[in-house]
Amino acid sequence: MKVLVPVKRVLDYNVKARVKPDGSGVDLSNVKMSMNPFGEIAVEEAVRLKEKGIASEIVVVSIGPQQAQETIRTALAMGADRGILIQTDEQVEPLSVAKLLKAVVDEEQPQLAILGKQAIDDDANQTGQMLAALLDWPQGTFASKLEIADGKAKVTREIDGGLQTLLLELPAVITTDLRLNEPRYASLPNIMKAKRKPISMKTPDDYGVAIETHLEQIRVFEPPKRKAGVIVESVAELVDNLKKAGVI
Ligand code: AMP
Repeated sequence: MKVLVPVKRVLDYNVKARVKPDGSGVDLSNVKMSMNPFGEIAVEEAVRLKEKGIASEIVVVSIGPQQAQETIRTALAMGADRGILIQTDEQVEPLSVAKLLKAVVDEEQPQLAILGKQAIDDDANQTGQMLAALLDWPQGTFASKLEIADGKAKVTREIDGGLQTLLLELPAVITTDLRLNEPRYASLPNIMKAKRKPISMKTPDDYGVAIETHLEQIRVFEPPKRKAGVIVESVAELVDNLKKAGVI
């Protein structure tokens, strides 16, 4: 079974985002960029399926600038087999990403696409759902457990009221939640091995997909600064202050 794993290059989750002075977006110059953490979980899950003998090949795809090759290499070092970079310097909205991924699925014919539930840069949480709709495949979003058997995927999802279990016919789209697994660190030998794994270089034009813009970002601004707290001497003073603030 072939598994497709789309991974996005995003601002590293440890980096504090800096807003551009003109408020037009987040400043990405000279900051550390990494694989979207939910994408790491997706790669890890695919690698575990391969280790169990369920997946035969893991293809990683990223849509983004030339540097997204590094993101693909990270996935290859974790255990994916080959990569596809669909190179563009434009901001690509989830619908265009989903259209490109559909074109990749049409070409590659995987039985499973495992995506992150959201990319931590714009928190869209749309691409997996849109891809499933475009392919007319069943979807198991926010997966916290995945079991594959007899041509079906059993997906446990964390929902508000507890856990929901879905049985999906393959091929299917799965999106990963935080608790699905803990991604491995790539070992040095595997990082070296990953350098020899193939990455095909493509463009959106190769897939006949035009990158369209449907959203306009009006303004980006920092959250308001939190005011400093007050250290109180006693519980009585705390209660007094809470009363004054109208909290109790
Ligand atoms: P989003 O809908 O933007 O929150 O992203 C959800 C998931 O879609 C991500 O975790 C990735 O698996 C996939 N995805 C989104 N954008 C890209 C991209 N530019 N390249 C590859 N995969 C992407």
